[in-house]
Amino acid sequence: MGVVSSVMPNSDQALAMLMEGNRRFVNTQATHPHQDPEYRITLGGGQMPFAAILACADSRVPPEVVFDEGLGDLFVVRVAGNIINDQLLGSLEYAAAHLNTPLIMVMGHTRCGAIGAVASGAELEGHIASLAPAIQPAVDKVRGREGDLTDNAAKEVARMTADELRNSEPVLAGLVKAGKLKVVPAFYDLETGVVELL
Ligand SMILES: [Zn+2]
Repeated sequence: MGVVSSVMPNSDQALAMLMEGNRRFVNTQATHPHQDPEYRITLGGGQMPFAAILACADSRVPPEVVFDEGLGDLFVVRVAGNIINDQLLGSLEYAAAHLNTPLIMVMGHTRCGAIGAVASGAELEGHIASLAPAIQPAVDKVRGREGDLTDNAAKEVARMTADELRNSEPVLAGLVKAGKLKVVPAFYDLETGVVELL
């Protein structure tokens, strides 16, 4: 039960741990922690993830890899375009309110296919179209700005989603006001491997 009885870091410490893990990953100094059988067995006693990550479903952005973490470290919610809906919000509320996870990071990334498709105005078939309403406002906001439209929109989606989570009543906003939770937007570069805070 060593894991469950250990101390949860505060929001700033959790963010520092994430960024340090990303530095190890980028500098090819990954330690691949918490993936051995002995550690896995201790997790049967419960979980205490120090950060929750809302990330894109894109196969190139797995949070456990890019932050060099292991089993039980990160509470990960993934969906194309890293948007939010009631089920995803409920999952994040569970982490923050029941597991006492002190940090939620919303992580967009370069060359996002979902956001690029909405930015291009392409016709989206089937249920893929259900992603568009959450992405379109960010695309509209950054259109005409200098730089790549898709990457600019992906950064804006991360910012807007983080704002939405931070102000989400009744659970997350209360934890933020009480100083128990921070919500930060971030952006992952597929090629450099670097996670930048927005
Ligand atoms: Zn994506």
